[in-house]
Amino acid sequence: MHTDSLIHASWIMPVEPAGQVLAEHAIAIHEGRIAAILPSAQAREQISASTVVELPGHALIPGLINAHTHTPMSLFRGMADDLPLMDWLNQHIWPAEKRWISPEFVADGSRLAMAEMIRSGTTCFNDMYFFPDVTGQVAQEAGMRAVLGMILIDFPSAWAADAEDYLNKALELHDQYRNEPLIRAIFAPHAPYSVSDAPLRKVRTLANELELPIHMHVHETVDEINQSRKNFGQRPLGRLEALGLPGPDFIAVHMTQLDDDEIEALAASGSHVVHCPESNLKLASGFCPVAKLLDAGVNVALGTDGAASNNDLDMLGEMRSAALLGKGVAQDPEALPAAQVLAMATINGARALGLEEQTGSLRVGKAADITAIDLEQLETRPLFDPVSQIVYAAGREQVSNVWINGCHLLRERKLVRMDHAQLLANAGQWQEKLIEWRQSQAS
Ligand SMILES: [Zn+2]
Repeated sequence: MHTDSLIHASWIMPVEPAGQVLAEHAIAIHEGRIAAILPSAQAREQISASTVVELPGHALIPGLINAHTHTPMSLFRGMADDLPLMDWLNQHIWPAEKRWISPEFVADGSRLAMAEMIRSGTTCFNDMYFFPDVTGQVAQEAGMRAVLGMILIDFPSAWAADAEDYLNKALELHDQYRNEPLIRAIFAPHAPYSVSDAPLRKVRTLANELELPIHMHVHETVDEINQSRKNFGQRPLGRLEALGLPGPDFIAVHMTQLDDDEIEALAASGSHVVHCPESNLKLASGFCPVAKLLDAGVNVALGTDGAASNNDLDMLGEMRSAALLGKGVAQDPEALPAAQVLAMATINGARALGLEEQTGSLRVGKAADITAIDLEQLETRPLFDPVSQIVYAAGREQVSNVWINGCHLLRERKLVRMDHAQLLANAGQWQEKLIEWRQSQAS
């Protein structure tokens, strides 16, 4: 057999079947897809490839899936820290967005975020932000797999004037990207506290018609629950249930406030949860009961949230935080074992996004979305279990190579399609503009 490329590595963790580790194996890639996974010795005899990559001491895992982020917000990284969610939004993030959001801002912020994600082993992200069409263009240039949130929020922005305008733009975005293999547009109403009933009903109807998932922040903080009780006489989830939102196509992000009945109802509805441990910790939003959700059969994926509330887009770090926090919250060291956390960061994300046929695990026929991690560093030695090393010990600096849809986009830590120096210079220009604006605001 002749293939486009052949990658030999010391370990391959396909994630499906769960917990499997293949030693001294190779992955053959042809026309963007995984053509074969077989022992290296056999591959050397049977497969000729245009490109052969030898990665001794490295592990290959499915490309990581960041199931919730706001890519353009990378330009606000570190601009306002150590604040509760509502102060952070009202006093800092929303005024900055009001002043700065534009296609240029979104393009530059998304590009910086994508470079960071590729260098951290992430191959697919689920975004929610204004000007998603621009993020889509940048993703196409970068070669990343992207799920664009068709944002909906009650207040006007530079992107849209009102609910009708947001929804019209959503449908245009969906049309624009419907035939792009790496890009998908899905509904993204911001949160229960920022979107009213009528547009949420419309989203449910349109999602049914177009068979698209709905991505939403839900039960992020205690404040959100209290406000909903006051304004609607019920908890946000109850209100969303009445509007028909939960279901197998519903992706609820954060979920730090959940009682046992709500967990049961979520499981019964088939809804997905995206856990963002570091953002929840930094904003002191509360703790998602991940072990309980998993025990109830809920599919739980992982996300970083935006770089303004994390403050990085590092899914290796997020896996470690999820594992540690999950054990702490469950008061059970056996909760969230390493292999399960790796599944949360890969196949569970693909399931939540409806992409499990394309990505999320290393299986013949799926797209070649692959991340290589160099475990032959003193930080990950000695080595008894490569999955344990990846979740508990490795840093993203050890991500060596990344392929998305078979394209080699990170080669020995070098970005292949993006200009590193240009990205740094551009971030510097935004830093100057934002500092100047903040000084003018203060005076
Ligand atoms: Zn978010």
